[in-house]
Amino acid sequence: MSHPDPEAGRHYPFRLEGFRHWFATDSACLDYLDWLRWGEGFRCPHCFGTRFRRGSDGVRRCLDCFARCSVTAGTIFDKTRTPLTVWFEAAWLMTAAKPGISALTLSRLLPVASYQTTWTMLHKYRHAMGAGEKTLLSGDVEVDEWMYGGVRHNVAGRGSKKQLVLGAVEQLEKGLGRVRFGLVDNASGKAIQTFLTATIAPGSTILTDGWQSYRKATGGNYGHVATVERTSDDPAHVLLPGVHRVFSLADRWILGTHQGAVRREHLQSYLDEFAFRFNRRKAKHRGLLFMRLLEHAVNTPPKTYRDLVMTETPGSGVSLGPGGTTVPGTLEGSKRAKPWRK
Ligand SMILES: [Zn+2]
Repeated sequence: MSHPDPEAGRHYPFRLEGFRHWFATDSACLDYLDWLRWGEGFRCPHCFGTRFRRGSDGVRRCLDCFARCSVTAGTIFDKTRTPLTVWFEAAWLMTAAKPGISALTLSRLLPVASYQTTWTMLHKYRHAMGAGEKTLLSGDVEVDEWMYGGVRHNVAGRGSKKQLVLGAVEQLEKGLGRVRFGLVDNASGKAIQTFLTATIAPGSTILTDGWQSYRKATGGNYGHVATVERTSDDPAHVLLPGVHRVFSLADRWILGTHQGAVRREHLQSYLDEFAFRFNRRKAKHRGLLFMRLLEHAVNTPPKTYRDLVMTETPGSGVSLGPGGTTVPGTLEGSKRAKPWRK
């Protein structure tokens, strides 16, 4: 459920002092997640009943099937051993700074056992950022390919460090709108069409270069304006300035915040994070990004650490902190008010 017009200071904190004040305890964090997920109407995850009672611990009990409905069950917070105060601090640090934060930096700021814990937290949040963005792009949309780590119109082989990425960005009267990225194996009509269907509303106009696959991919569902590169001094970035600007910003962000240490299999998640930020770059308060992130997180099914890394370990080659601690640290303080409930 998405809260349509959130206000700073009421639905999300203005800045750090407010954040600390609101989320001093795990129970306050839990209550905020409860409000984000069920604030506008409860739905039992087991029987879809709407009647409930809240126990003294704040947990809802369904009055139809009598199940105890934990707000974190079936979300990225499910069965976590990391206290919610730490999760919230991570979400705040991840969204408060414009360029975001790397797992290594975060592991030095939070009372967590290891780099692996912060890496996993950030990656679960990234997963939520991607999975939570459901509205399709529309209007005039520039689309092009980008070879992450190489040249275009090429097929990235297995084991290669290169990855072909499709990017789509809305072209508004004044500047750029929202952006979306998708990883593809090749620049065929079929691969492009799959991306367009998942990303852009039917009836939109797709602006591309002269690459033949776009004609096939847009047929039927979209308007299509192809601009052919006629001369060598008329390069593609002049034809499609929006999508090329976004590719170069994403590239610089990965190089800057994450020192370029992004593996191919995690690239989609990083691009989802970039898009989540970029699509809210005009937000008046950074707290709105924090709220949207938690809103996505509490409505996103979990991914385990195994799902996230597949067969690889996170960021090998990065020196880890001492680690080995079995009791996760906490950031709990004293109990405070809950402004979002008023
Ligand atoms: Zn129920």
